[in-house]
Amino acid sequence: MASIQFVDVSKTFDKQAVIRDLNLTIEDGKFTVLVGPSGCGKTTLLRMIAGIGPHTSGRVLIDGKDVSRIPPGQRGVAMVFQNYAIYPTMSVRENIEFGLKNNKVPKAERKRLIESICETVGLAEYLDRKPSDLSGGQRQRVALARAMVKKPSVFLMDEPLSNLDAKLRVQMRIELIELHKKLGTTFVYVTHDQVEAMSMADTIVLMNKGEIQQEAAPEAIYHQPNNLFTAQFIGVPPMNIGELGTEGARFGFRPEHAVLSRQLPPESALHYQTRGTIITREMLGSETIYQIRSGSDSFMVKSAEDLYRVDEEVFLGVDASKLHFFGGDE
Ligand code: ADP
Ligand code: MG
Repeated sequence: MASIQFVDVSKTFDKQAVIRDLNLTIEDGKFTVLVGPSGCGKTTLLRMIAGIGPHTSGRVLIDGKDVSRIPPGQRGVAMVFQNYAIYPTMSVRENIEFGLKNNKVPKAERKRLIESICETVGLAEYLDRKPSDLSGGQRQRVALARAMVKKPSVFLMDEPLSNLDAKLRVQMRIELIELHKKLGTTFVYVTHDQVEAMSMADTIVLMNKGEIQQEAAPEAIYHQPNNLFTAQFIGVPPMNIGELGTEGARFGFRPEHAVLSRQLPPESALHYQTRGTIITREMLGSETIYQIRSGSDSFMVKSAEDLYRVDEEVFLGVDASKLHFFGGDE
């Protein structure tokens, strides 16, 4: 188990700053997800923890200890990548055993470790198969098992599920949450997918352009976004944003917090009210998503009921408690 700390960390590539004065504490034993758009610096940050991409300035601490001079192999971290990095010509057992042999772990101990870990990740029956005879999900489990035999105090995962199909991705999310619970080890998980972040994280660290936008539990980041970027990055469809008229100030509301009606709702019941036309209707079974045009604004509304049709005129209202306000300088 280990905590990780970034203190005033910057990183430049070719004089270009990709991480700027970043301060972050990743708590021991927690499932922390670094999320943000492609190119925002997530992998760069992960590589600094692993020791395979040095920072330009500042300090990186693992368990309170500056690791600048500690080589990757001695940091107690293991990394799992998107493209698995498993050897195609070796069997599952050989793939996992490889690192153990290098570390001169005795044969009997190797056998015991491999079998116990493969039991944990659901590979017990596949020990003698080659990667080409495994499904995508099983290959990803081999990569996980290879990380697990190192008994790291930190697991670093860089978009590990992005090569899997949608259904398997959902299943592996749940398996990773369970694995984290079982191991109780610090997980640092990188993704550009906010759904993965919301569903897996104890703590979400949302980044943009090399800076942290917000660090919070999923519920808090969803309900109390502290800036426009966070408000629009987290949530599908994204938060609706409208202008307040003064110096770029904005208001916002989540698609599921808008109430539609055919008649004008009684005054004072809803704080924000406008009138509009339904432009699109997307019926998803358990909910319907409408797009509504109101003057020059366009709003998304998510409704549990499928009551309206395209071209219908509706009133849209939002309760005062569900409105968000953002300053003009963002
Ligand atoms: P993310 O993982 O969030 O997609 P990265 O950490 O990979 O982002 O990259 C952050 C920024 O740093 C990007 O603009 C990328 O082009 C740049 N970058 C990453 N690695 C290198 C490198 N080795 N040389 C030059 N620029 C790099
Ligand atoms: Mg990346």
